[in-house]
Amino acid sequence: MTDTQPAPRSRPGGAPPAELAVLTPDSWTEPFWIAAAEHRLVVPRCTNCGTFRMPPSPFCYVCQAQGIDWVEQTGDGRVYSYTVIHHAVVPLMRDALPYVVVVVELPDAGGVRLVSNLVDCEPSSVEVGMPVRLVWDDVADDVAVPRFTAAR
Ligand SMILES: [Zn+2]
Repeated sequence: MTDTQPAPRSRPGGAPPAELAVLTPDSWTEPFWIAAAEHRLVVPRCTNCGTFRMPPSPFCYVCQAQGIDWVEQTGDGRVYSYTVIHHAVVPLMRDALPYVVVVVELPDAGGVRLVSNLVDCEPSSVEVGMPVRLVWDDVADDVAVPRFTAAR
């Protein structure tokens, strides 16, 4: 008898449970998640004025144009803000405590910010301005979530 079960996924430490990563993309966010599944972090840039905008939205906040290009990022960033969560607001999060919610500034995309988690990192070591780098959290066969870890 052969074992047909897939190997358990190796997930970063401090990442929320995979069950919480349920996507409901729309036409403006779907390209982001398709690229993420391919381990590419992309940010929409206005085709009219070049402004990066995150999260993806129907209209550029500078010129109101709708056209966008999806620009791939290096994954380098800096902690703009963060919070360490010590209380599980849903029971599913108990085993992930404490975890770090981080707002990462992406300098290669005009400084747009992405809300994510800091993983594989001691929560007490997080600082504003700390350099971070992208890591992919494969939560399902076709779903990868961008997380960040200390760039040391
Ligand atoms: Zn624009």
